[in-house]
Amino acid sequence: MPTGRFAPSPTGALHIGNLRTALLAWLFARSNKSDYLLRYEDLDMALVRDEHYQSQADDLAALGLHWDGKPVRQSDRSDLYLDAIRLFAQRGLTYPCYCSRKDIREASQAPNGAPAGNAGTAGHYPGTCRQLTRSEQRQRQDAGRPPAIRVRAEAIQLDFVDLLCGEQSDVVDDFVIQRNDGTPAYNLAVMVDDSLQGIQQVVRADDLLSSTVRQLFIANALDLDVPMFAHVPLVLAPTGKRLAKRDGAVTLEDRQQLGETPSQVLAMLATSLELAKPGEGVTLDQVLERFDPQLLPRGPFTLDEQYLATRSSSKSLSHKKPD
Ligand code: GLU
Ligand code: ZN
Repeated sequence: MPTGRFAPSPTGALHIGNLRTALLAWLFARSNKSDYLLRYEDLDMALVRDEHYQSQADDLAALGLHWDGKPVRQSDRSDLYLDAIRLFAQRGLTYPCYCSRKDIREASQAPNGAPAGNAGTAGHYPGTCRQLTRSEQRQRQDAGRPPAIRVRAEAIQLDFVDLLCGEQSDVVDDFVIQRNDGTPAYNLAVMVDDSLQGIQQVVRADDLLSSTVRQLFIANALDLDVPMFAHVPLVLAPTGKRLAKRDGAVTLEDRQQLGETPSQVLAMLATSLELAKPGEGVTLDQVLERFDPQLLPRGPFTLDEQYLATRSSSKSLSHKKPD
């Protein structure tokens, strides 16, 4: 059975951008006659809010985006991730990294300060701790900062074809698989889960496109099955930035407070995907019938101020110039 999934982090209520991604993942899955799994990415305990497991599930259900089986929580699956991290270590593919964010920023900016390799690409680790000797490691350990664990990626270049974004090719940096508080990192957990849950199609927002080669690196190293990927465009605020809660009436609850029904929210999402005409009422079945991945709009979708404005937020939005 081919399988798709939606994997939200229960750190807040889903907003229109999240709901649109959930709808797309559902459409991809159901148009393939696939299962659609719900997986909570809740490893970052400091950010998780208990009430949002339920609020997110309720919002999906209100839109008709029903999932198969019981939702899975990554926080219940730590052993799987720790096993994977252990395997990496046993194969000599890891090293401890003592850098703070600031260290990494500064090393990336120094013209000659970073060791050769995959340094220099925005967001890539410059390799500072890659060649530390045991005694240097001990010194840093004694200084009190527990290390994060990074992989030795040897600046390998990996390729894949994204169903929407086309051919992708990128160098893999020495990314973190275990944070310095012991938490398995996103790329590690997501790839272990996608493989063990038998996910064959990953549909998610395109801000994660550049992480994908890191996940492929993990799959290759651990001999895991690799799913297909479809990275879908983001929803943007009128400012052109990625949509956030502060931008106005962006959650289903906000929209309902403005008097809209879940069907109206669904219709608006369908319109944004060019699967309904503006103002047209549509059912989820109709949206599914019309869905064709090849015809999806390829650019981000920008919400306008009028749509987002609520009584309480219209004041703070009104000073911004419209596009
Ligand atoms: N948990 C991620 C998010 O909420 C999505 C990760 C994924 O789909 O791979 O943005
Ligand atoms: Zn380091």
